[in-house]
Amino acid sequence: MATKSQLASETEAREVAEASRESEWTGASFVRELFLGRFPLHLIHPYPETDPEEIRRASPFMEKLKEFLVRVDSDMIDRTGEIPEEYVQELREMGAFGIKIPREYGGLGLSYSSYVKAMAMVTSKDGSLTALLSAHQSIGLPQPLTLFGTDEQKRRYFPRLAKGAISAFALTEVDAGSDPANMETTATPIENGAAYLISGEKLWCTNGTRADLFVVMARTPDVIVKGTPRKQITAFIVEKQWPGVEIAHRCRFMGLKAIENGVIRFTNVRVPRENILWEEGKGLKLALITLNTGRLTLPASAAGGAKALLQASRTWAAERVQWGAPIGKHEAIARKLSLMAANTFAMESISGLTVGLAERGTYDIRLEAAIAKMYNTEHGWRIVDDALQIRGGRGYETADSLRARGETPVPIERAMRDSRINLIFEGSSEIMRLFIAREAVDHHFKTAFALVDKKASGSDKRAALGRVMKFYPFWYPSRWIGRGQIPTSFGEFGKLAGHLRYAERHARKLGRSIFHAMVRYGPKLERKQMVLFRAVDIGAELFAIAATCARAKYEVSRGNKGAIALADVFCREARLRIDDLFENLYGPTDDKVYKLSQQVLKGEHAWLESGIIGMADYETVQRWESDVEAETLAAR
Ligand SMILES: Cc1cc2nc3c(=O)[nH]c(=O)nc-3n(C[C@H](O)[C@H](O)[C@H](O)COP(=O)(O)OP(=O)(O)OC[C@H]3O[C@@H](n4cnc5c(N)ncnc54)[C@H](O)[C@@H]3O)c2cc1C
Repeated sequence: MATKSQLASETEAREVAEASRESEWTGASFVRELFLGRFPLHLIHPYPETDPEEIRRASPFMEKLKEFLVRVDSDMIDRTGEIPEEYVQELREMGAFGIKIPREYGGLGLSYSSYVKAMAMVTSKDGSLTALLSAHQSIGLPQPLTLFGTDEQKRRYFPRLAKGAISAFALTEVDAGSDPANMETTATPIENGAAYLISGEKLWCTNGTRADLFVVMARTPDVIVKGTPRKQITAFIVEKQWPGVEIAHRCRFMGLKAIENGVIRFTNVRVPRENILWEEGKGLKLALITLNTGRLTLPASAAGGAKALLQASRTWAAERVQWGAPIGKHEAIARKLSLMAANTFAMESISGLTVGLAERGTYDIRLEAAIAKMYNTEHGWRIVDDALQIRGGRGYETADSLRARGETPVPIERAMRDSRINLIFEGSSEIMRLFIAREAVDHHFKTAFALVDKKASGSDKRAALGRVMKFYPFWYPSRWIGRGQIPTSFGEFGKLAGHLRYAERHARKLGRSIFHAMVRYGPKLERKQMVLFRAVDIGAELFAIAATCARAKYEVSRGNKGAIALADVFCREARLRIDDLFENLYGPTDDKVYKLSQQVLKGEHAWLESGIIGMADYETVQRWESDVEAETLAAR
């Protein structure tokens, strides 16, 4: 572990993140507009429909996958912590490792939407299998190779990957979790730059213990920018068989028991220059772009998991009779069931919409994807919690134990263990909110920041003043009037029109509120996470309302009239949450809450922790373990 002085400063961390950010918006984005107080529904409505030809093409694979999953023994996988090689081989043979890889390279050549539908189906059965397939295809080599690979790299690696060579994405290190500026793995140029020597250790690398190929992010020599050195991170394709690649440890977790995840050590691994992905110094940007689209799998998986939990919960709520009625008739459980269905519909709407927009190619889905990841994994977690509560004691009991007692082995406790990580990996909920907040204020920052920036020159300030005078006198007043105030607006949505009018009015309110917060806090707003995150949550709820209404209208056109009731309940509940977030936007208790947190951080309230056996101190735990061992030996 690096010492404190070796770790990147906050400024450096921000600079590295900022340099790797995609700062340009090349395509439209509904969510970006939302944060600017606009509601361009035409960008997401009509709801994107999957091409029937694509459904037909994907159907043989989906059938094979389904038939395989029905046979998979997930309790055995969970119990043993291993995915049997026969399963992996069967997945290889049906093409499950090359779903999106073009046919010319031996893949199935299916679309992103077919891919995420497959992952949703896999998740509804087995999280460890999702981890295997998704770490390979969402963030593993096929994804950056598609986006940034040269023709030669594609010719060399796609056919292997399509046949089932497993790949892994190696970004995280002990000190570089959410903050890649701390990365220590180095890639030192040798042979006049014809090759590099990679040395370092990557942590929690999913598929790492089974992978043939790695995408490794490593530090190449700093470049000098305006007289100061700037860290460079470069992405490399590294082969497992190359000397110096070693699996140092297999990690085990609370859930996803069979995930092939480990610490991968690289010791002077020679990597030829032609294995650089994209360009030297573009590695972090590559990782972030890969994650931007790659993280569309998790929202779909979360929705797939939620559907399975909904099915298990409604069956049990109808079957289980207590106090003279099925538990689903008692209001407390009925509410859970209703919200579970409404939220599952919303999650699937968000995921389907975002994937559909990504497939258009002209749409910038960065913000939509981040919201989808954050929103669906958080709602998914609430759903698994409710499902466990509805199943009562059986929810807490393992499937094996239920089976042994002759009861249906519904694996809710496994679903809970497997799904908790969704809020952490591929960008934790906090990092997603930070990312969304950064983009939400971006336009204001670009327009006006130089006015309050102490480092800005006189000419920068004058230019900023010009931009401010051009933008705000029109933008701000126009955020007070809009379609949402006209009672007949969005009439084509029938019963749901009122929700869209609400969303339009509150999108303008959100735009105004972010502007007010900018004026109130100035550059300090960047650090006001509690305020910013509430604004992000409002934006996420508004996006969810819009996505859900658009999907409901689409479903009605296909004869699924019940979609209206699901969307209506979802929107009503989302509106309550939005009203509450606006009411408390500036957090009346934030200052006190933060002050107390800092006291806690300093240990000022450690007296509260008396009378317990601590779990945080490694040495105490070690001493305790050796005491137990000594006692056991003495007892013998
Ligand atoms: C099962 C599993 C699989 C994984 N697979 C991979 C993989 O395949 N490849 C790979 O490279 N990595 C992988 N990871 C790593 C994963 O992406 C990281 O765990 C994640 O990025 C968070 O890093 P961290 O755990 O070090 O948390 P930290 O960065 O230490 O964060 C701890 C907490 O602080 C919060 N936090 C951090 N910074 C801020 C901030 N500025 N403001 C507010 N809150 C903040 C975080 O959200 C989190 O709640 C995996 C991890 C696990 C557990």
